[in-house]
Amino acid sequence: MNVLILGSGGREHAFARSIAASPLLTKLYVAPGNAGTSQLATNLDFSVTDFATIKTKVLELDIEMVVVGPEAPLVEGIYDFFQQDEQLNHVNVIGPSKKGAVLEGSKEFAKEFMMRNKVPTAAYQSFTASTLKEGMQFIDSLKPPFVLKADGLAGGKGVLIIPNADEAKESLEQMLVGGKFGAASNKVVIEEFLDGIEMSVFVMTDGNSYKVLPTAKDYKRIGEGDTGLNTGGMGAISPVPFADENLMKKVEDRIIKPTVDGLKAEKITYKGFIFIGLMIVDGEPQVIEYNVRMGDPETEVVLPLVSSDLLSHLQAFAKAELHKEELSIDQRSAATVMLVSGGYPEAYEKGKEITGLENVNGSIVFHAGTTEKDGKVLTAGGRVIAMTSFGNDFHEATKKSYENIDKLGFDRMYYRTDIGFDL
Ligand code: ATP
Repeated sequence: MNVLILGSGGREHAFARSIAASPLLTKLYVAPGNAGTSQLATNLDFSVTDFATIKTKVLELDIEMVVVGPEAPLVEGIYDFFQQDEQLNHVNVIGPSKKGAVLEGSKEFAKEFMMRNKVPTAAYQSFTASTLKEGMQFIDSLKPPFVLKADGLAGGKGVLIIPNADEAKESLEQMLVGGKFGAASNKVVIEEFLDGIEMSVFVMTDGNSYKVLPTAKDYKRIGEGDTGLNTGGMGAISPVPFADENLMKKVEDRIIKPTVDGLKAEKITYKGFIFIGLMIVDGEPQVIEYNVRMGDPETEVVLPLVSSDLLSHLQAFAKAELHKEELSIDQRSAATVMLVSGGYPEAYEKGKEITGLENVNGSIVFHAGTTEKDGKVLTAGGRVIAMTSFGNDFHEATKKSYENIDKLGFDRMYYRTDIGFDL
């Protein structure tokens, strides 16, 4: 089978590594990919939302499966684009339909879906410019801190957690009337603050049955001790040590099953990954958000722990035969540490040579923002490399990642030295 992966980050390199290991694979393509994916696959130079070019290439290269990494093509309807085209509808697109992708594309839709399907989540109300006054009254009725969420996609920046009511009202006005997040904040969800511990669960579903992948916890902030600006993610560990059998049973019974059943009952076509962001409050799981694809850097710890054939599982989506597949999970722990360009998540420079890659031993180097030029690997983004390792526990795994990081270098390389230290 020929497979195309869409995307260019560490997540897509991790998909490429797992898929390349499958005996079912004939040829692997990644668009646009990076210097890491080019070692396992042929990189193709087009954008993940350029559907016309994707069509041409899929036909030309006889591609039978498209694995969609980021959310943008899903929200723009790549699944439906393939389904509605006679030349393309035999292709197995791994991802939800456009209707399913709204679970990530609209926070209000996600909250309504959870309410309809009795999935536990924070109490909320949503507001538009014409109900600004009611929004302010709602803020007065809540206890601080206040959680304000832009309804649409805002590049991971659309959630504000504000300690006092006056500031929250000011921000609400900026979002609804002042265009703070553009069209994404034409509608704002205000919800109850949940005080607990965060973790994420990952599910793959063919729309009928599902399999639960290992849990993960990511580290979002740039600074040690989870301080400073938010980033795409500075590291992750898997599985989460506090996610014991008892908690996972609650997660499965109260969240995963009703979510998959809800999709089915509401006739929302969904053959892909569901990333469920959870807050565990006094041992009880509540949903913070749905994402309709895998996370980055969580994929770099979750997929390496899948020891069965990922491509075989994905192939089963087409005929809704995932229930026949045997998912095996490596019982070790995994940790990944992200190496970033100095300055990130604000302005940073690119084009710096990365040295020492050949000296890494016992860890997996997942490339994120990298490119190859004249036989050298250069930085090409804010997040550059995810260093993943295994261990008997995640402390052992992070230690190995840090040992290998010491062998690498590029100008103004930065990483957090405390991944997993809070657990
Ligand atoms: P991401 O970049 O992870 O996709 P997002 O912009 O889609 O984020 P959310 O994940 O909904 O937004 O929220 C971002 C963060 O805000 C969460 O990871 C969590 O730490 C915090 N958060 C969101 N909702 C709540 C809540 N109700 N109570 C407490 N914290 C919350």
